[in-house]
Amino acid sequence: MKILVVGSGGREHALAWKLAQSERVQMVYVAPGNGGTARDVRLQNVPITDLEQLANFVEQEGVALTVVGPEVPLAAGIVNLFRARGLKVFGPTREAAQLESSKDFAKAFMKRHGIPTAEYETFADAKAAHAFVDKMGAPIVIKADGLAAGKGVVVAMSLEEAHGAVDHMLSDNAFGDAGARIVIEEFLAGEEASFIVMCDGKNVLPLATSQDHKRLLDADQGPNTGGMGAYSPAPIVTPAMHARVMREIIMPTIQGMAKDGIQFTGFLYAGLMIDAAGNPRTLEFNCRMGDPETQPIMSRLKTDLVNVMEHAVNGTLDQVELEWDRRTAVGVVLAAAGYPDAPLKGAHIHGIPAETTDAVTFHAGTTDDADGKLVTSGGRVLCVVGLGDNIKMAQKQAYEAVDKIGFEGVQFRRDIGWRGLKH
Ligand code: ATP
Repeated sequence: MKILVVGSGGREHALAWKLAQSERVQMVYVAPGNGGTARDVRLQNVPITDLEQLANFVEQEGVALTVVGPEVPLAAGIVNLFRARGLKVFGPTREAAQLESSKDFAKAFMKRHGIPTAEYETFADAKAAHAFVDKMGAPIVIKADGLAAGKGVVVAMSLEEAHGAVDHMLSDNAFGDAGARIVIEEFLAGEEASFIVMCDGKNVLPLATSQDHKRLLDADQGPNTGGMGAYSPAPIVTPAMHARVMREIIMPTIQGMAKDGIQFTGFLYAGLMIDAAGNPRTLEFNCRMGDPETQPIMSRLKTDLVNVMEHAVNGTLDQVELEWDRRTAVGVVLAAAGYPDAPLKGAHIHGIPAETTDAVTFHAGTTDDADGKLVTSGGRVLCVVGLGDNIKMAQKQAYEAVDKIGFEGVQFRRDIGWRGLKH
């Protein structure tokens, strides 16, 4: 059978890599894909991003199933379009994807359904927003309502920074329509974790736990990024915490959406903040898998992902049990020089080691230059995943592979998994 993965990042490379391991798969197309998906034997890039044209391609090629990686096509309604044309696709509809595409929608939804999250208010008027900031004090968090590729959130430690963020979004229009409204919310202290499940509309199947590293530099210093690494499993999500998050956050979300008349299908990602007393609250929802969490999670999945996806689109996820590699997976992101502000493109990449049972490299911002040589083409370039019996051994595998790879100005963290080591 043929499968299509939509997207071009490390997340999509890992999903396509895992799907291609199924004996039932003849070809996995990746649209538009990257330099890594172009090189893998059973993967093939398709240079199409227009959604109608993608649906045409799926019909022409007889693609049996489409899996959507990123939020932008989901928010644009790729699932609505494919379903209307009778095509099997795994992901949320445009309506369901509002949990991610509008922070105001997500916050109002959580409030309505009693899902634990930070207190907040939404503003379109700068004057009212400034007055609210003064009333609440710092630290405080300012968020653009719409999709801003992870750049629309300012965790302001001072009033000055908070007022600056309000002006930037509301007065200077920094994010266009996505920032025409802003959510201002209470600052939550604690430790973050990613909680990702698959939903078929009624059944919920949790994936392995994971933890992301958002800051650019070691020890969680420096600016926020799309994610500099992730590992799985995450010991902060104990079995008791897992049960609690399912009971207090995930199930009320799926059921709440159903009550509001929206069936949720797809990956649901709850970004959690777990406070010192061990209480989880929801920072955000994503309606897709995380990047880079997907890379270590897929590296640990033993079950045939094609079978899982089929059950997911047919509404029978209750018949699936996932089997995981018992080892820990640590994924280290190699970012381009200048990331996150102005990533250097066109730098030659060398030394990527061949895949082994202990280490695999997923591509993100890579492409071929005119001579067919692999070069950087985006901020996050590669994600190297190492597997080992514990975090330290997985780190060793990952960093041994990382140290073989080179490109001009490469940036990466040396401490992916450090919070897990503390537990
Ligand atoms: P993503 O790239 O994860 O989709 P996003 O733009 O949707 O990001 P959020 O996940 O809502 O933004 O916030 C980004 C980061 O800001 C969080 O991972 C967290 O570190 C921090 N953050 C967000 N909300 C709060 C809060 N209320 N209190 C403290 N920190 C927060």
